[in-house]
Amino acid sequence: SAVIPLYNEAQSLEELCSRLTRTLATLTERFELIFVDDGSTDSSFAVLQSLHQRDSRVKAIRFRRNFGKSTALSAGFKKAKGSIIVTLDADLQDLPEEIPTLLNRLEQGYDLVSGWKKKRKDSPIRKIASRLFNRVTAFFTGVRLHDFNCGLKCYRRELVDELALYGELHRYIPAIANWKGFRVGEVKVGHHPRKHGESKFGSERYLRGLFDLLTVIMLTKYPEKPLHFFGLLGTILSLSGLAINLYMAILRISGKWISNRPLLLL
Ligand code: UDP
Ligand code: MG
Repeated sequence: SAVIPLYNEAQSLEELCSRLTRTLATLTERFELIFVDDGSTDSSFAVLQSLHQRDSRVKAIRFRRNFGKSTALSAGFKKAKGSIIVTLDADLQDLPEEIPTLLNRLEQGYDLVSGWKKKRKDSPIRKIASRLFNRVTAFFTGVRLHDFNCGLKCYRRELVDELALYGELHRYIPAIANWKGFRVGEVKVGHHPRKHGESKFGSERYLRGLFDLLTVIMLTKYPEKPLHFFGLLGTILSLSGLAINLYMAILRISGKWISNRPLLLL
């Protein structure tokens, strides 16, 4: 099953669908393309309807409004029937022709294989930010990947069934998968500049990505032991409070004023 989340990508859908169909047909007789229209306001859904009329293996889900890529992926995963699931972006930045390479790697004993856009075709700022994002994420999650947020990925069904995606957690799928004990691998893939339309994520992505990283760290590292995270901070604060109070108590008993001391407020 191929799952493709899309938001206002009408101009790319025809080409994507035909290239994807051609590639999948070389791999298997039974496949499906699940397009998830994440509340597009252009003619994307109409294009999907006509694609479905031509080929019933093309299926489409339509959201009433824009819910975000994670929710779109999640809806596609729920509908997907295949034992192997491939995701890719709808803007043709990912190449459908590279799916066989990912599947080969999956066969070598992985549950998730992610593309690694070694040569990104994005603005210099995006490239630097993305490198930083990937380094920080790899450091905090312990997952040694170069490119967490590549749209092109393939999964075994068992993994997909366990993923609960919401908000913008799609950026951290490899980290969540690794935490759940699945084997995560990567292969280098090509990356193309966007042909039509523009990126659907603005610069607020960086700030949100940061908050999501916190969410992922809490979810993966401290879900059953939140005290290990808050405990250290709490202990330091408690001990210094105790020391200050003790000191003030001694001052007061030895007859000094303490109500004029900022230390008391602290
Ligand atoms: N997308 C989506 N919902 C959104 C934003 C994006 O389904 O709210 C889709 C989008 O249509 C594309 C994929 O997610 O197929 C990746 O988005 P985009 O190409 O804008 O991201 P970038 O390549 O700039 O990281
Ligand atoms: Mg893109």
